[in-house]
Amino acid sequence: MSQRIAIIGGGQLARMMALDGIPMGISFSFLVEHGEDTRCVNNLGDIVTRSADQSSQALYEALGQPTVITVEKEHVDIPLLRELQSLCPVYPNPDGLEKFKNRLSEKRFLQSLEIPLAAFQEVTSREELEQAINTLAKPIFLKSQEQGYDGYNQYKITDDNAADVLSSIEFPSQWVAESFVDFQREVSFIAVRSTSNKVRIYPAVENYHHNGTLLTSLAPAPELSDDQIERAKSYLKKIVKAVDYVGVICMECFVCGDDILVNEIAPRVHNSGHWTSKGALTSQFENHVRAVSDLPLGSTEALGISGMLNLLGVTLSAEQACDAHSFLTLYGKTTRPRRKLGHVTVNYNNYDDAITRVKTLEELAYGKDV
Ligand code: AMP
Repeated sequence: MSQRIAIIGGGQLARMMALDGIPMGISFSFLVEHGEDTRCVNNLGDIVTRSADQSSQALYEALGQPTVITVEKEHVDIPLLRELQSLCPVYPNPDGLEKFKNRLSEKRFLQSLEIPLAAFQEVTSREELEQAINTLAKPIFLKSQEQGYDGYNQYKITDDNAADVLSSIEFPSQWVAESFVDFQREVSFIAVRSTSNKVRIYPAVENYHHNGTLLTSLAPAPELSDDQIERAKSYLKKIVKAVDYVGVICMECFVCGDDILVNEIAPRVHNSGHWTSKGALTSQFENHVRAVSDLPLGSTEALGISGMLNLLGVTLSAEQACDAHSFLTLYGKTTRPRRKLGHVTVNYNNYDDAITRVKTLEELAYGKDV
């Protein structure tokens, strides 16, 4: 029977899943919000705009009676997904997605699994914020419980700006205050889990952020010990099992001495996994499609050393970016400051060449000062 996957969202992650799924004979449809830019997925399948009064049955029909529904983003309508679950499988399941949609519920869930995290406190009032400022290590990261990503909806609170932040936030509102983590590096781990509980994990990725947003990645992460990698993998295995997860999931971590602290879970294919498109036997996108379609998972083995440069609000032409070891992926979007417009991946047989090439591309895209 021919498979059809409906994806909630029509951005670049949906695009790359479709581009990897179409060659396997799978068709796609995309559910987008009214006014959402659909350029990334134009011509890759049916695009359905959500209307307020549409029943879940009508939506399921409009999406072409998909075999399975999946997501490309975290901020999804969980009650709608639960309704759609009566019509076809929804992977990852809505209960799991709900846990990761809110930073506080995510942290409490990770704590219940005894996974190490930065110290945190719930903040919903001025008094709670004052208390957090008086107890947590500064600079404190104050993050909104929902709708916050890539450093958006966040404050970095120091002794100098604490009074300003206290007076500028309107309560009641929902936040998590986090102690400063004096990390040496940031890494992420990407896993894929099948419907029959088979888990494969990609090699760790080292990530470099600029203004809270991922700028470059290097994989496999060069500086982790085998013990740190095994520990992190055991956290990820616990997480996917606990929520009966199906699909690709990303765990972002801080490396602090010997400790690995989990910062955030992204229940979807992830920017830090873009290197897998050219640098792993199976890309994260293909493995997500395979997992939700009940197909055998592909190997997550790395092929050589990969680097990735995100194109944020800037772009490179194919002439500038492509060479024997460098590959350009553009998402087809219009330019806006900080907007993710594309990425370049590089692949070599050694770290020096991969790092040097990413640095050259970074300067080409952003100039000397990013
Ligand atoms: P997030 O939105 O949680 O992914 O945070 C964006 C970036 O801010 C992270 O990748 C880190 O570089 C930095 N960051 C976030 N939380 C902390 C923290 N508790 N301590 C130090 N740096 C942090």
